[in-house]
Amino acid sequence: MTAYQRAIAQFEAIFGSSPQIVTVAPGRVNLIGEHTDYNEGFVLPIAIDRHLCVAARGRPDQTVRVAAADLNDTDEFPLTEIVRDERGSWRNYPRGVAWVIQQNGVALKGIDAVIASDIPIGAGLSSSAAMEVGFALTLLHFAKAEVPCPTLAQWCQRAEHEFAGVQCGIMDQMIALLGKEQHALLLDCRDLSHELVPLPKGIAFVIADTGVPRTLAASEYNIRRAQCGEAVKVLSELLGRPLRSLRDVTLDELGQVFNEMPDPLRRRARHVLTENSRVLAFQQAMREGALRRAGSLLLASHASLRDDYEVSCRELDAMVSALMSVEGVFGARLTGAGFGGACLAMVREDAVERVLTETPPRYKQLLGENSPESTLFAVHPSDGAQVRPL
Ligand code: ADP
Ligand code: MG
Repeated sequence: MTAYQRAIAQFEAIFGSSPQIVTVAPGRVNLIGEHTDYNEGFVLPIAIDRHLCVAARGRPDQTVRVAAADLNDTDEFPLTEIVRDERGSWRNYPRGVAWVIQQNGVALKGIDAVIASDIPIGAGLSSSAAMEVGFALTLLHFAKAEVPCPTLAQWCQRAEHEFAGVQCGIMDQMIALLGKEQHALLLDCRDLSHELVPLPKGIAFVIADTGVPRTLAASEYNIRRAQCGEAVKVLSELLGRPLRSLRDVTLDELGQVFNEMPDPLRRRARHVLTENSRVLAFQQAMREGALRRAGSLLLASHASLRDDYEVSCRELDAMVSALMSVEGVFGARLTGAGFGGACLAMVREDAVERVLTETPPRYKQLLGENSPESTLFAVHPSDGAQVRPL
């Protein structure tokens, strides 16, 4: 059964009637532009064909009842008094979204809802943003209200900050709302301007999870963020003008003062600046159908994340090598914050099956006896979230 069918079946089982709508919200993967978002740079995510579905029916009162089919858990809260679940759980996503919408002056109505999803949870494919966007569109549907992007994305981000307690960026919510089949979204994190980029036919993307938990990711992420802030200060002094972010510096300028800058700050800055140009070069290559060039840019991104930004690890490097040894793979790189998690590969559509079967043994071979178990699957660029009446 698909997540869509499960959401409907569970709704009927729990609430004893049919849902009126199912809202379908995609996960996402970022093709290129890693650690650029908080430096006011560029990212290029796609929405993927894995979805979180919210089956729902309006209620005549101010109560929200919601069941999480995948977790076998339920919640109920009044719209008149929404509080955080202090134990910290999935409940904070629906509650946070309802809270933020009402904070912004939209009067909501009660609903019954069931959530079911085939986006792996906590795997870096942003099941959290799918949940926020899916639930927000569901609530807005029954309130007969429309909120445009990027406003709705910002509301969902705020729900994640204030209710889930996760200081996420804005990319995930933007792509969950604005994704389009066969397209990527070029997003400028400085002003949220964005543009859909058509992708060539005949390619697919493979997510290759290393099986390594991202235990270091949170602390190292904070260190990298702080280093980028430091680099801005140092560069501002060396260049003799105020700078707001690394976006205000060109690669040429960095080159001129590179030797005067302390390490590793200068390499952190170099990753961010070169990564921004790789995002722009990659989207251009995709428009032109220049798949080899695009693949090389993915590999260059990985090298920069490994050597300049130092967020890779043995297993991520091994996964890139394993993927690249299979025929039909154009390029690969670590995706997400790093220190474990998954790699992303761009592959020929007709090579997907081979990549999925040949990569795991090669990964194992490279890592030897204690190799963690890898998990691979293909994803395709898909549409953003939609409310579907039944
Ligand atoms: P990611 O966004 O990378 O998948 P996060 O830790 O940001 O990981 O978000 C995962 C959280 O989102 C889960 O712990 C849970 O609270 C919520 N969530 C995601 N998918 C579901 C689901 N299908 N049912 C209930 N809660 C979910
Ligand atoms: Mg998340």
